[in-house]
This record gives sequence, C-alpha cells and structure tokens, in this order.
Amino acid sequence: MTEDHKSGFVSIVGKPNVGKSTLYNTLMRQNLSITNPKAQTTRHRILGIDTGENFQIVYSDTPGILKQVSYKLHDKMMGFVKQAFDDSDVLVLIVDAQRPEEPEEFKRNFENSPAKKIVCINKMDLVDEAKLNELMVRLQQEYPADVYLSISATENFQIDKLRETIINFLPLGPAYYPADQITDKSERFFVNETVRNNALRIYQDEVPYSLEVVTISFKEEPNIIKIYCEVVVERDSQKIIIVGKGGDKIKRLGTSSRLELEKLFDKKIYLNLFVKSRKEWRNNENMLNSFGYNPE
Ligand code: GDP
Ligand code: MG
Repeated sequence: MTEDHKSGFVSIVGKPNVGKSTLYNTLMRQNLSITNPKAQTTRHRILGIDTGENFQIVYSDTPGILKQVSYKLHDKMMGFVKQAFDDSDVLVLIVDAQRPEEPEEFKRNFENSPAKKIVCINKMDLVDEAKLNELMVRLQQEYPADVYLSISATENFQIDKLRETIINFLPLGPAYYPADQITDKSERFFVNETVRNNALRIYQDEVPYSLEVVTISFKEEPNIIKIYCEVVVERDSQKIIIVGKGGDKIKRLGTSSRLELEKLFDKKIYLNLFVKSRKEWRNNENMLNSFGYNPE
C-alpha cells in the first residue's frame, strides 16, 4: 500500500426503478481490476468491491423494500437505511431523468448526511438536452451536493467520470477487504429472521419461542437466489405441528417467507425449508460443515 491509498464506503441511493442496480453492474463490470466478491458486513450490505492499485471502493446497498417486512426486521432495515446516509463516505443520489420526483423525507436525510454527495441524473439517453438542463438547474437548487452529473447506466455515459469523482472523494486509508475475508453472514441472518418471524406469526402459541431457523445454503445466481433452510424445533411432536396436515402449514410458511424475501432482496427466490428436531440437527454436524455453515 502506498501512502496515498484511498478507501471508503459508497452508497447509491434513490427511489425504486431509477437505475441503481444497473449502475452498480455497470460500475463493477467496467473495471477489470475488480475482485467481484459478494460480501456483507454488519455495517452494510456489500454489493461489490472495486479495488484498484491506489483505491478500494466498497459499494454497499440499502436493503430494498421497507414497507411490508415484519416489524422487528423493519426496525433493523430502517437502521441500515439511516446508516447508509450517516456512515457512507460518499453518497450517490440517483434521480430518474424522466420521473425526477423524490420524497421529502429522502431529501432531508440526504441533506443532513455528512458524506460527500454526488447527484446523478440517470437515463439521460431518454430525455432531450433542454429538459436535462432544466432538471439539472432544479436539482442544484433542491439538493445541495458536491458534484452534479448526468449519466446513463445502460449506455455507459459518464460512468468513468462518476467513478473518478467517487475516488476523488474517498478518504485516505488502507483497503477494508482482502478478498479472502468475505462472507455472506448477513444475508443469511436476514433469511433466518424472516422465516422465524413468519413461523411465530403462523403458528403463534403452538410452537415455542425457542424455534430456530438456520440457513444452510445461500446461493445467488444471476436471476434467482436459492436458499436452503432448516427450521429447528426441540421435539418431534412440534415437528408435526410445523409440517401440518399434508404439509399445508410448512407450505404456508415457505410461501409467505419467500414472498417477503423476494421483496427484501429484490430478486426471485427459491426457498426450500426442512423441519428438524434438535436431536437430528445436532447429529448432522458433518452435513452442516460440508455446506459451509459455521455457527456465529
Ligand atoms: P433500481 O430499482 O433503482 O435498482 O433500478 P434498475 O437498475 O432495476 O433499473 C430500472 C429500469 O431502468 C431497468 O429497466 C433498467 O434497464 C432501466 N435503466 C436503468 N438505467 C438506465 C439508463 O441509463 N437508460 C435507460 N434508458 N434505462 C435505464
Ligand atoms: Mg435494484
């Protein structure tokens, strides 16, 4: 590492459909030096790490949909969103050139954030220059920021410029992540919480609070996330309750959890639930190890 090495957390924020995911992909794909890990920390959900000779940009995401997740999880997620505004070194606000309205609450959080701020009008390919200029002037008045850019994530317009600007704003410091320290613990944590909360809601007093959910395998593919979970109860009699008549209850648990997870991860989910009693589960340690599960 040289003395002028820079590193930091960058959050790309904005309403649904403005092009955040597309932009992450464009930013990550373009730079050949990326290590392309999928990683999470407790601080942020990490989407990608762009490591260059003299910099490391850690792109992190705010978990997507907030409205319909259960209450307990909701609190945690809101915490993450707030953290994105408070903890990021650089905030990139994406505004859709065609639909540039942002919620008030969003504006306030953005304004109060101590991060360096970049406002990007995305989808500039879809509007004419006059409209773009007009919008730019309005945003400059409404959103105090350090830099304003017009970009197109799909057409690759000004993406280099955006990356350059981000690097420019990173504080001096060593890299946060060597590639081999990357785990997916936090995603598994959210899966466990979601299935467990749904179980507590569906079975209510029929099962003890001690019910546990363990995500054995979490595999993200381009169009789907495949998740394999074990629902762990203490006794065989509870196992029967969880499964239900002809499997109807476990099916309900699977469906409601899957729908919630699809909103959470903003992606199609395949969710496979297995019910185990604790005895069986303990005996399965070799299997757990082979799936790469390490108790946290
Ligand atoms: P997100 O919800 O903010 O993550 O938005 P997405 O990245 O999923 O993008 C929403 C839609 O906008 C997708 O259909 C993208 O292909 C499209 N999109 C994103 N960026 C651009 C752009 O620069 N130009 C155009 N024409 N479409 C874009
Ligand atoms: Mg997205």
